[in-house]
Amino acid sequence: MDGSLDVSPASERVPLILIVDDDPISNLMLSEILRKDGYQTLVVGDGQAALDICQKELPDIILMDAVMPVMNGFDCCRSIHIWYGDSCPPILMITGLNDTESVERAYQAGAIDYVTKPFHWAVLRGRVRQAISANLAHQKLKQALGKERLLLQELKIANHKLHQLASTDGLTSIANRRVFDERLESEWKRLCREQSPLGLILIDIDCFKAYNDTYGHLNGDKCLCQVANIIHTCVRRPADVAARYGGEEFALILPNTDLEGVICVGKAVQKELQKLAIPHASSIVKPFVTVSIGVVAVLPTLSSSPQTLISWADQALYDAKNNGRNCVVAFTSSVING
Ligand code: GH3
Ligand code: MG
Ligand code: MG
Repeated sequence: MDGSLDVSPASERVPLILIVDDDPISNLMLSEILRKDGYQTLVVGDGQAALDICQKELPDIILMDAVMPVMNGFDCCRSIHIWYGDSCPPILMITGLNDTESVERAYQAGAIDYVTKPFHWAVLRGRVRQAISANLAHQKLKQALGKERLLLQELKIANHKLHQLASTDGLTSIANRRVFDERLESEWKRLCREQSPLGLILIDIDCFKAYNDTYGHLNGDKCLCQVANIIHTCVRRPADVAARYGGEEFALILPNTDLEGVICVGKAVQKELQKLAIPHASSIVKPFVTVSIGVVAVLPTLSSSPQTLISWADQALYDAKNNGRNCVVAFTSSVING
């Protein structure tokens, strides 16, 4: 076996070998040979000194004598493993002991291999070389896995953000029209199977053009956000959807809700908006912002479509406008309040 060093491109420095032995002659020979093989070496005489070194700099491999003063190799090996865990450098036990118990103790303490004195130099050099390159490969793999995990996490966050962006209205932060269309379609099909009512509310701000003309477009935007917030807080069930339908119109999908319940939610929106009393000096209805609300609730069937539900709610909303605005009208065309 030739002594050439297998330093992979990812390795940033010449591998460092820590030699821990209380035998100065053995240390000298080992250090000499390994340096000739192109490694850096550090030599200490006992386990405690090895621990001190490892706290400052992590070697690429440790050649550890078993029997030493101050702290023996087994205890030192165990301590280094406890400190470094998965990142622990490979530890090769070198000793004159070759009884079975010592071999077992060495492996139990975490040594990867066991070499007895006197050395068979070619074997020792080969094992050192292999242990270093295996450790390097292991560390690189760990790094790559860590990077991959990080990337996956970032991808998850980005996906989540993307989904949020694609499903929320940019101005008001409630659900957008796309979500409204999808959910109405899916709830229609679900409640068709369940034979349970589906409620829909369309809400339109009264005299909003005049609001913009009076207070400016930016204040108009602010007003839209306030109204959206009220609408959003008026629905409580997990399957309910509050969405911006377009412009100054909003919609509420209320699954498993009959007409009575839907009217109730519509009135709640009106009541909460009245409480907020956003000034609207140019409204022909009241001196504050009001809304007209069209509501409907039906038992979905396969022979009809959610578009019918929308057109009925729209018709109710139209009636509410014609009825002087600021009121809730159910599709039956009966005025609920004013
Ligand atoms: P009506 O009581 O009949 O509903 O009258 P209206 O003025 O509310 O209705 P119209 O359809 O005439 O005008 C709607 C206004 O809503 C006009 C439009 O500029 C405004 N609008 C729509 N989207 C936005 C928006 O995102 N921001 C602002 N500030 N205004 C908007
Ligand atoms: Mg409108
Ligand atoms: Mg309007």
